[in-house]
Amino acid sequence: MGRKQLNHIKCRENCSLVAKAGFRHRRVIIQGIQSAMVQDSDEILFVEEEDPVAGSLPSDVSPWKVLVADDDPEVFTVTRLVLSGFVFAGRGVSLLYAGSAAEATEILRQQSDIAVALLDVVMETEDAGLKLVKVIRDDLGNSHLRIVLRTGQPGQAPEHDVVMRYDINDYRSKTELTDTKLITTLVSSLRSYQQIEALERSRAELREARDTLEIRVAERTRDLRESEARLRSILDASVFPILVLSEEGDRVRFLNDHAGEALGWALLENTTSTLPDLWENPVDGARLLARTVQRGRVLDCEFRLRGAGGEPFWALVSTIAMSYDGQPAVLLSFNDITVHKQREEAWQRLALTDPLTGLGNRRLLFDRGILEVARARRGCWPLSGLMIDLDHFKRINDTQGHAAGDAILRTLADTLRESLREIDVIARVGGEEFAILLPDTSLTAAHEVGERLRLSCQIPQPVGGPVTISVGISTLHPEDRGLGDMLSRADDALYRAKRNGRDRVEIADDSEDNQDVSP
Ligand code: GH3
Ligand code: MG
Ligand code: MG
Repeated sequence: MGRKQLNHIKCRENCSLVAKAGFRHRRVIIQGIQSAMVQDSDEILFVEEEDPVAGSLPSDVSPWKVLVADDDPEVFTVTRLVLSGFVFAGRGVSLLYAGSAAEATEILRQQSDIAVALLDVVMETEDAGLKLVKVIRDDLGNSHLRIVLRTGQPGQAPEHDVVMRYDINDYRSKTELTDTKLITTLVSSLRSYQQIEALERSRAELREARDTLEIRVAERTRDLRESEARLRSILDASVFPILVLSEEGDRVRFLNDHAGEALGWALLENTTSTLPDLWENPVDGARLLARTVQRGRVLDCEFRLRGAGGEPFWALVSTIAMSYDGQPAVLLSFNDITVHKQREEAWQRLALTDPLTGLGNRRLLFDRGILEVARARRGCWPLSGLMIDLDHFKRINDTQGHAAGDAILRTLADTLRESLREIDVIARVGGEEFAILLPDTSLTAAHEVGERLRLSCQIPQPVGGPVTISVGISTLHPEDRGLGDMLSRADDALYRAKRNGRDRVEIADDSEDNQDVSP
């Protein structure tokens, strides 16, 4: 049995030395190189006693967990010695030992963070190691663990398809347990484990990001649904009729009960119903929607809408541009103002009407007068005016009573209405004074009208002669500031008619063509 001087073999100072004979390992830790001797036949492993890197590792960096499964505890001992100073990626190694496949299974079941398993092929049974590999991958579902199979006997190497199928990193003979080979194997296994872990981490991060995103999307969708449901319930509860129309105005997206009743539409089954006739004049609707889209909202506009049975009604309409079910839309609310409108029109009529005779009053005369003056000037048409006053009306009141006087005023109003055209403006402007505008009528023609009226307005009386009228006539001059100037001249002519004996028609002195008029 020969002995080998340690200085004959490549060994660094301060090393542990492990001599290996066959499959049995004898551990010989020595203090000094000079005194270490081993048998010639022994294969020798060297491990650095103290690793300067491992010694300076931060305490919070967890070591790589490596499981050694081997029924020979010496293999574990040797492995521990070989790896005692091992550092990879700034982390040392924490070794776990299992003396059987069953023990290894239990450890692996409890600790899912083991990075590498160095498995003996032959343990309880000839193929315990190979079976353990299947348990790890199939039963424990551990696909991260890097597996290195070690065997003492050649010919126990797993089949190629087993290596592929069970993702076996390496297969080593136990005789290859020198430091370099084991460390190389471990480094490549850990590198591969590190990559798998990094990949898994980024997968997990991606999964988490996707889950978070999905949760957010779900929350947003739920919020949106809730807010739309809230909106719908608010719209439903509104006392006003409310519709949501597509931006183009051709579809009804929503309709509350009040709108359904007011328009005579059945509640919509879906949100894409075609818009029935809503507007009396469709151009109104198109303009309103375009203005809403442009300005964001339009408030309190009066439109004629079509109600139940297509009957038009007046509505005060407001619109707001909005998004409905994620689509651009217009919310339209309206209020039936037909009654108010009728009342307003009645008030307007009253405000412009003389209650005794039903003719227009002074206000109507001037409202219409402004339009007639403008129209005459625009079209270069003549416009003439008549002022009429009942003769000696006071006397009639005094003799026949006020009621009889009123009756005479009404009779006179009827006669005037019957004698004149639709376009003529007739107004009672004082107690027994009337003003008449004759559009498109020259002074000569107006004079004829005046004469005709004078004759037809002679109202017979039970006692004495008939009631008569005096008439003053004028026509619009280009230099007139307005209707007032023309009527003032007609009034002058009227008083001239009074002065000249009443029951007469007089033409204003300054009327341009009064010379043409026969007396
Ligand atoms: P003249 O020919 O100069 O116009 O004499 P007149 O009596 O018609 O004129 P005057 O201005 O002196 O009197 C007008 C009268 O008209 C006085 C008033 O009693 C009467 N009168 C004014 N408004 C009404 C009315 O609404 N009903 C009745 N019955 N009489 C009215
Ligand atoms: Mg009078
Ligand atoms: Mg008078």
